[in-house]
Amino acid sequence: MIRAIHIADRAEHRRLALPGSVHIDLTRVEPDGSVGMWFFCPCGCEGPCRVSIRKGAKPAHEPSWAWNGSLTEPTLAPSVRQLNCGWHGWLRNGYWQEA
Ligand SMILES: [Zn+2]
Repeated sequence: MIRAIHIADRAEHRRLALPGSVHIDLTRVEPDGSVGMWFFCPCGCEGPCRVSIRKGAKPAHEPSWAWNGSLTEPTLAPSVRQLNCGWHGWLRNGYWQEA
């Protein structure tokens, strides 16, 4: 498992480029309540990638994920699949778990 460290500063997140690290951008909230989560692939191949998440319930648009609302121990559903490298797994309680 790889820790999904949340880095609050977007520029710092990009500069450090730590595999598995995340930055949830609460400064831009879409009309449906979704926000963006930027992350570096847990395998270290690329990033930052953006996914659309929403606290409590998955947004209607695809692709998107339901989020537990935690910055420090985020959980997303459903699982995340990286098209570039084939990595597939879950973000649960602040850790990336390969499926
Ligand atoms: Zn990867």
